[in-house]
Amino acid sequence: MNSGKKTKGSYMDLGIAGKRALICASSKGLGKGCAVALAEAGCSVVLNARGAEALEATAAEIRALGADVTAVAADITTDDGRAEVLEAAGPTDILVNNAGGPPPGMWTDWEREDFIAALDSNMLTPIAMMKALLPGMIERGWGRVVNITSVSVKAPVAQLGLSNSARAGLTGYVAGTARQVAQHGVIINNLLPGLHATDRMDQLDAALSRAQNISFDEARASRLATLPTGAYGDPGDFGQMCAFLCSQQAKFIVGQNVLLDGGATNTTL
Ligand code: NAP
Repeated sequence: MNSGKKTKGSYMDLGIAGKRALICASSKGLGKGCAVALAEAGCSVVLNARGAEALEATAAEIRALGADVTAVAADITTDDGRAEVLEAAGPTDILVNNAGGPPPGMWTDWEREDFIAALDSNMLTPIAMMKALLPGMIERGWGRVVNITSVSVKAPVAQLGLSNSARAGLTGYVAGTARQVAQHGVIINNLLPGLHATDRMDQLDAALSRAQNISFDEARASRLATLPTGAYGDPGDFGQMCAFLCSQQAKFIVGQNVLLDGGATNTTL
């Protein structure tokens, strides 16, 4: 992550210092990138993940930046977990929705309960978080929501049928809801990661090396060759884009799906 290497004073003022941000699933990877960037923008941050150890390490890292940090170890995809996180967060100005992605497979693999689990994690959980926090944002006349979804919303990833389905559902919900709440100063957008250098990418490259009986480095090289940038995205950069979508300046960006994929999706528009 490159977010620690900035020259002080060289960044746009996002106008959100003092805002209270809740970043779900944020001890590692893209969620952590968002939490770091929001803390750097002057927000207090509420972090969440299931595993307490990595969560506490990330909380300590972000506290060292001078931010006020609350860490809640809970499963955000459960009713109890969400209740715990919401209780600790209190009034929240900025919500970043995130959770782990569903497992890969073939279209023949998935039964009803697999779809229900994917919908719970990647569609109904972010919707529940929005339903819980949008009323307060509307009352205060200001709010920002960023949902971390996936490139699979724009271009299907064949083996991620559960993700393709659940995230498309969330995208449809956001498309309408964003237009209902914008008049209250509440702005909702989705951020679509392509391939970023996180633990999940390490796991996916390890799985590719096993499936094709090639080394990890060969698997990684073959995946990198699909990217115009020749390199994976940086979670720190992803976080900076998230922070921009949470900025004052983002107030006219409504219900958009912002693709961060290094140009990998080969479309003109
Ligand atoms: P990651 O590096 O594996 O990090 C996932 C983070 O989420 C960890 O902090 C993890 O901590 C937390 N988490 C997972 N499930 C959780 C749950 N039920 N409740 C609370 N916290 C939870 O993953 P990532 O690469 O940042 O990916 C984040 C999301 O973006 C995923 O949905 C993924 O499918 C999607 N995505 C990623 C990429 C990419 O290139 N990285 C591309 C497309 C889509 P614990 O495990 O301790 O809970």
